Amino acid sequence: MTIASYFANDYPEAREKFIAAAKDAGAALERYTNPAKGPSGEDLTTDVAWLGPQDASSVLVTLSGTHGAEGFCGSGVQVGWFRSGRAARLPPDTALLQIHAVNPFGFAWLRRTTEENVDINRNYVDFDEPLPVNEGYLKYRNLICPDQWSEEIAAQTTSEINRLIEELPPMVMQGAISSGQYVDPNGIFYGGQRPSWSRLTTESIFDRYLASAKRIALIDYHTGLGPRGYGERIGVGSPGEAAWDRSQNWWGDVTSIHDASSTSAPLHGTNMEAWVRYLSHAEVTATVLEYGTQPLSQVLTALRADNWLHAHGDLDSDVGRQIKRQARDAFYQDSDDWKTMIWSRGIDTQEIALARLAAGTRS
Ligand SMILES: [Zn+2]
Repeated sequence: MTIASYFANDYPEAREKFIAAAKDAGAALERYTNPAKGPSGEDLTTDVAWLGPQDASSVLVTLSGTHGAEGFCGSGVQVGWFRSGRAARLPPDTALLQIHAVNPFGFAWLRRTTEENVDINRNYVDFDEPLPVNEGYLKYRNLICPDQWSEEIAAQTTSEINRLIEELPPMVMQGAISSGQYVDPNGIFYGGQRPSWSRLTTESIFDRYLASAKRIALIDYHTGLGPRGYGERIGVGSPGEAAWDRSQNWWGDVTSIHDASSTSAPLHGTNMEAWVRYLSHAEVTATVLEYGTQPLSQVLTALRADNWLHAHGDLDSDVGRQIKRQARDAFYQDSDDWKTMIWSRGIDTQEIALARLAAGTRS
């Protein structure tokens, strides 16, 4: 099979490929059904595949579609891992847990967010505590998320945002847009007011499959930041903290969102930091794999357009269809060279994780 054939054209095809590949590889499957439906009225599910001994001490966990439409990328690596014969080569006392479409709604509807318009990767805050305040978002809200949308408005707001990104200190404008906000349910990078379905589901999956694991590696697949096709490994936390230092020791080229080494702004309520705490019974080593697609300004415009469509527009219109094509391209480069880059870096990252987990198992 070619590398390109691991990747799908839409969410239903991705799910079908994942389930078929997992079955053929001998993995056990389970599904969690989302309350919403897809564009053709289809069921939306997060599918879970487990391969290896039930009581394995070490578990490699891969996650796709945390940000919905970014799911094409991680799904392709997950399917390919099953299809490429690697299933037969798991180290002893080691299992693989692949979680497909953490946010199936966003995957199916080509949105980054969930059925609640929530960005899962800003949703992992303690909702009993005061929520983070993003002053920059409040200040620039009408520029970031205008009520009207046209080519002219897109061009004009994009150029004003680019000017502010240039003029303000590094990451100030990017942070205003993307670090997360908890006040505007119709805005972008909204963290929500309660744990999302996807967060609760992921926690249930972890409870069910990872309770007795001693060593866990987590790889969460994302797209939309950085040079096209390059996979940045973003560690959890900061240099000097045990989890980040271990990830650097494993992979050697890990960045941090907290020390300006990453293409990402510092963020509130991220899933990975919460998961390392949630799974504190085990030694957790984690990385985000963040692959570039298009230039940042283009990705942000696509996101802002999609948010306008969700809040004010009509999906069944020329502008609606055009925005959806733009959103898909911002998160998925549907070309063989890009898929090959995704695959090589993804597999390299997973094989290093499996080797390190195995080394820990023997010691
Ligand atoms: Zn993402």
